[in-house]
Amino acid sequence: MLCKIGDVEVWRILDIHGPFLLPEQLYPTAGPDVAAIIESHAPGSVCPASGKLILPIQGFLLKTPTHNILVDSCVGNDKTIPGNPAWHQRSDTRFVSSLVAAGVNFGDIDYVLCTHLHTDHVGWNTQLVDGRWVPTFPNARYLMPTADEAFQRAQGTEMYNESVLPVVEAGQTELVQAGHELGDHVSLIPTPGHTPGHVSVMVNIGHCEAVITGDALHSTAQCWHPDWHFKFDVDPEMAVTSRIQLLERVSESGCIVLGSHFSLPSIGRVSANGATFQWHE
Ligand SMILES: [Zn+2]
Repeated sequence: MLCKIGDVEVWRILDIHGPFLLPEQLYPTAGPDVAAIIESHAPGSVCPASGKLILPIQGFLLKTPTHNILVDSCVGNDKTIPGNPAWHQRSDTRFVSSLVAAGVNFGDIDYVLCTHLHTDHVGWNTQLVDGRWVPTFPNARYLMPTADEAFQRAQGTEMYNESVLPVVEAGQTELVQAGHELGDHVSLIPTPGHTPGHVSVMVNIGHCEAVITGDALHSTAQCWHPDWHFKFDVDPEMAVTSRIQLLERVSESGCIVLGSHFSLPSIGRVSANGATFQWHE
């Protein structure tokens, strides 16, 4: 278990942990020293051999007294992602092992909550069975941001066809918006920009609070540099605004922050630091 928020257990469900892309590719406006800056804030996060940023692809399992909620379902197996050979048509057991280690099976998941609809957050939504994509979690409701579903459906991407459409066709989808509440303790914070409907996730029980960032931030270095653009942000300026608003919020409350792509262990807190912020593990 990663941590406990009141009586909600939080478990890391890790799918992939390895070099992704070069920091200067990922943060095109961050300047030529971006790798050194990231390494100074998150030592060991730049692969010494390839120079690429080492990125965990992980979900978080929230075990509440009444529900099992999976926040983001990572890359998955057998998916068509030719642009990234390491993610293309994988056959890997780590994600499933992580779930089993947390004490749950596919049938035990009550909700799958997608912070946004990108390849590395929806993969295990479905699995390939006898040549057909079917929902991996037969008893789950899948919560997806309305704006992302519309955006991806219009694009008709492989990601949509393999990881979203089969869930829609199975009648297991619930389209949601920021502000949506899931039970008494989980709610969605608006953080648009990375995608049109991107949400972060708040777990709030009494005085205990935690926020799962999703892709509102990708590196702890963005606490110091929230203005950096990120390669895959659909609207980079809107993403900067959302990032700063989220950092204001979590630094004000001093709550636990779980960074979906932050260097492991990906858990810490944020405080104000002059004009920007800083990260504390
Ligand atoms: Zn991501």
